[in-house]
Amino acid sequence: MLALKAFKYRLYPTEQQEVLLNKTFGCVRVVWNHNVEVFNKFDKNLAQQEQPLTSTLLRKKFDWMNEVSASALQQKEIDFKAFKKDYFSKTRKKKVGRPSFKHRDAVQKYRLPNQKFTLNKNTIRLEKRGKVKLVLDRPVPDDCKFMSVTVSKNLCNQFFASVLVETRIIQKPKTGKVIGLDLGIKAFLTGSDETTIKNPSYFRESQARLAKAQRHLSRKQKGSSRRKKAKLKVAQIHNNIANQRKDFIHKTTIKLVNNYDFIAIESLNVVGMVNNRKLAKSVSDASFSKFTEVLSYKAAWYGKKVVKVDRWFASSKICSCCGWKDKELKLSDRTFKCKVCGMEKNRDLNASENILKEALRVSSAIRTPSEC
Ligand SMILES: [Zn+2]
Repeated sequence: MLALKAFKYRLYPTEQQEVLLNKTFGCVRVVWNHNVEVFNKFDKNLAQQEQPLTSTLLRKKFDWMNEVSASALQQKEIDFKAFKKDYFSKTRKKKVGRPSFKHRDAVQKYRLPNQKFTLNKNTIRLEKRGKVKLVLDRPVPDDCKFMSVTVSKNLCNQFFASVLVETRIIQKPKTGKVIGLDLGIKAFLTGSDETTIKNPSYFRESQARLAKAQRHLSRKQKGSSRRKKAKLKVAQIHNNIANQRKDFIHKTTIKLVNNYDFIAIESLNVVGMVNNRKLAKSVSDASFSKFTEVLSYKAAWYGKKVVKVDRWFASSKICSCCGWKDKELKLSDRTFKCKVCGMEKNRDLNASENILKEALRVSSAIRTPSEC
């Protein structure tokens, strides 16, 4: 199976290159913001609408734009066209808001198509920027096809190159094993075969550090250099948390995809859960939606199956053995006790078994295994 994969590397530009990269980000921003501005001027009462200038015309108008790669500007134009198409699409599923301006103090990005960059052993050659030093900590597969590269700068002033390639993915061997997962607050996940994965404690520790840094920042005077420093500190902690989470999700999902052929999960109402303030921190820590997304695409890559069970299905209130429903079960009840068959089980384990059963029921592809 062919799939798109991104490989992200840290870049170490020289001071001069840094200036040039920042210029590219700036010019790309001009292209985007110009398009946004014209888009927002749309007036249905006018017979003739204003049309945005193409990147070629913008380059003619602003001489300094010629210092940067024309392809990078074109790619941004393509992005805006894609946005517009999505905005006016009648079949789109998600709501798309009006376009917003890109600011210089946000994460910066620009993209180059495949002919405009070359990935070498310790460097990447970027059009108009030359060879930039990079650390190739994860090589791209030998037979892959290069699609594009996205150069970015985060809020901690770190530069990255994310190389997108098309590659053949070898499916993982089948194990014949199935699992139902209950995602939760106490344990990150509980599997129907009694595997549990805890929420890493470092999420909490980083959250505490973040809260402290934010308090620190709020006391600094606007425009002062101390404020700037405190702001960078906050950005660094955010960055750390994001990296830890990415790493945790990557490791957990690959473990599941290696071990199971069929994975059942509940489609979560994450927004609803986050609104409940008491649960909010743990839920956002655990980042269920990201986990579900990564698990789903990895399963698709490696020939495994993820089935989502309707979130209204009362997984925790049903006895996984006889099907009796405990309507009075409270969130604080950690053990499920069945008044009909007498089964007593950890609440999350019972829920995960129900999720697995329900997923197997709705999915006709796989036979139902023996009941409990
Ligand atoms: Zn029962």
